[in-house]
Amino acid sequence: MPNPGAPRRSLFKAGEMAYDWIRPIYLPRDSHYATRRLLTMTEKSVYAELTDRMMLTGSAIIPRLLEMLADDREAKVLMAMPGMPDEVAAASGFDGDALEDLLASLFHKGLIFYSSSGKVRMCRDVAQLHDATILWPEAPKEFLDLWQAFMETEWPGFARMIEAFLPQPFTRVVPVEASIDAKNQILSTECVREIVESADKLAVTNCTCRLIAGKCDHPLDVCLQVGRAAEYTLARGTGKEVDAAEAMAMLARCEAEGLIHVTMNTAKANHFICNCCPDCCQTMPVLLEEGIKLIAPSRYRASIDGEACIGCGACVERCPFDALTLDEGANGETGLSMVNEEKCFGCGLCRVVCESEAIALREARPPEHIPA
Ligand code: SF4
Ligand code: SF4
Repeated sequence: MPNPGAPRRSLFKAGEMAYDWIRPIYLPRDSHYATRRLLTMTEKSVYAELTDRMMLTGSAIIPRLLEMLADDREAKVLMAMPGMPDEVAAASGFDGDALEDLLASLFHKGLIFYSSSGKVRMCRDVAQLHDATILWPEAPKEFLDLWQAFMETEWPGFARMIEAFLPQPFTRVVPVEASIDAKNQILSTECVREIVESADKLAVTNCTCRLIAGKCDHPLDVCLQVGRAAEYTLARGTGKEVDAAEAMAMLARCEAEGLIHVTMNTAKANHFICNCCPDCCQTMPVLLEEGIKLIAPSRYRASIDGEACIGCGACVERCPFDALTLDEGANGETGLSMVNEEKCFGCGLCRVVCESEAIALREARPPEHIPA
C-alpha cells in the first residue's frame, strides 16, 4: 500500500531538477568489494541485502531502520535500483500510479535520490542514509532512538573502517568568518561568506545529529544547505528557504554559541555548512574519543599574541578540540594561552571569545590541503 503520509509527486524526468545530492562519503571504488568479501553465504533478508549495498554489512541495526522506513513493496522497488523509472518498473513489477506512489513515498522518507539524467537510486552510504532519513517528517521516536543506538554502538566501528578506506576525511572545518588574519590568502571554499553569497539557493534544516542525540542545548535549525542540497531539501519539504542575509545571521549565532562550521572536504563544491558540537556530531565524538579522522582541519591554526593575552582563559574554555592551555606563568603571574599545534583544527572559535584580540588564525597548510 502507498504510504498515506507521503505527498504525491510526479516522477522526475531527464533534464528536470536533480535531487541526487546529500553528503556522500565518496568511498574509493574498490572499497565496496572489500566490504562485500565479508558477506556470508547465508540467505539474507531484503533489508540485509539493502544494508550490504550501502557498505554496512554486519550491522544489526541498519536492517531494522530500513524495515521501519520501507514496507515489502518499497523494499522491492529499492532492490530494482539504480535505473531510469521504466527500468525500475521492469525490474520491480510495479508501474504506473503504483510505482509513482512508491517512489514518492521513498523520496519523502529520504531513501532515494534522482540524478539530472532522471535515474533514480537508493542512498549510497551511511552518511546519506543518516542525513536524509532522520529528516523523515513522520519519523516515530523509536526510529530516531534506534538511529542514536546505531551511532553509539555500531558507528565507531564503521567510522574506523571508513577512515581506513578514504584517501582523506570527507568533511572539513571552515574557519569562523572574522578569524582569519587579513594577510592570508583565503580560498572561496573556506570562506563562509563566499559560500553563502555565491549560492543560488539556500535552505536551513534541522541538524540530524543533534535531533537524535539531544546531548546539548544548542539550536537544532542550524544546518545550512547550499545549491542542489537546498533544492533537494525544499523538494522534500524538510527545510526552510533562507536568503543570504538570513544565512549569515544564523552562522553568526552559531559562532557565538561555539558551534564549528563544517563542510564537504572538496574544493569543487560546498553543499552544506553544518554547525557542529562535540557532543552530538557524527564525526566529532569519534575524533575526540577515538582519534578517528573523518573530519579534516582547516588550512589555519590559532596563534596567540603574547603581548596582548591577559590569561583570562576564555579561549581555553571555548576550544572544542582541547587545543589550548594556560601556561604556568612566571612569579605567580597569570599564565598566557598556549596552542597545541597538533590538536588545533583551525576553527577560529577561540578568537570569537577573546576580548583582548590576542588570537589570529595563520595559514598552516597549503591550498592543496583541500582535495580538488
Ligand atoms: S581569551 Fe584571549 S586574553 Fe584570554 S587567555 Fe585566551 S588569548 Fe589570552
Ligand atoms: S585553538 Fe581551538 S578554538 Fe582555536 S582555532 Fe584551534 S581548534 Fe579552534
